Amino acid sequence: MKKLEAFLETKGFSEQQISHAIPKLLAYRDTTLDWNDKVNLTAITNPDEFLQKHYVDSLLCADAKELTEANTIIDVGTGAGFPGIPLAIFFPNKKFVLVDSLQKRLKIVRQMADEIGLQNIEVVHGRAEDLARLPQYREQFDLCVSRAVANLSTLSELCLPFVKVGGTFISYKGSNCNAEVSEALKAIQMLGGKLDRVERPTLEYNPSEHTMLYIQKERKTPNDYPRKAGMPGQEPLK
Ligand code: SAH
Repeated sequence: MKKLEAFLETKGFSEQQISHAIPKLLAYRDTTLDWNDKVNLTAITNPDEFLQKHYVDSLLCADAKELTEANTIIDVGTGAGFPGIPLAIFFPNKKFVLVDSLQKRLKIVRQMADEIGLQNIEVVHGRAEDLARLPQYREQFDLCVSRAVANLSTLSELCLPFVKVGGTFISYKGSNCNAEVSEALKAIQMLGGKLDRVERPTLEYNPSEHTMLYIQKERKTPNDYPRKAGMPGQEPLK
């Protein structure tokens, strides 16, 4: 708990913001772990580890200008709500859309978010490939975030179509992502994006050793993308 608080201070949150958020974070963790006995939500069942690997990790980009300046954010493949829920707790004035193809999990996320009074999230069931073709979602977001969903080429095809020109896609990647990044550069470019920067947050507060990739949307995504559901994963763009 101390470490979570110290981390939040390094991200520039005020004491008031932190003390307002902590009860919500703890309640969300506790209900997630309760539900986890019935429905597979997380592999991390140790309560302290949960704070680090889900909360600290999700909030690694909390002080990035791409996030602080965004009004609308989409989390693609949110699973049990990561990184979307912790971000929504800390940024109550921004609107978050949490997408997942697994309805069962998403319903529980909605219920748990309601229990902590989180009003700035919408959960949307569906595959990113299909949702990104709908006018209400295509190129409608200032920011897309995604953690642990697919390789970077596949993920860029799932995520960049949601982002407005001038917006950003932040991908949470592992410590050894250099080859994955090189392999995805062409796909990113084809989808209208450009890798702006790679950040390796200090290991002191980076429990999963994530690398953060900031990909800017420079041009509209061609209408051919995303390809039909399943294709981005089966045949990643090269
Ligand atoms: N982001 C969460 C969950 C990662 S597991 C975390 O970091 O903890 C990956 C999740 O992505 C799963 O819940 C899966 O249902 C979802 N997913 C995978 N492919 C998807 C797609 N094409 N569209 C929407 N959701 C997808």
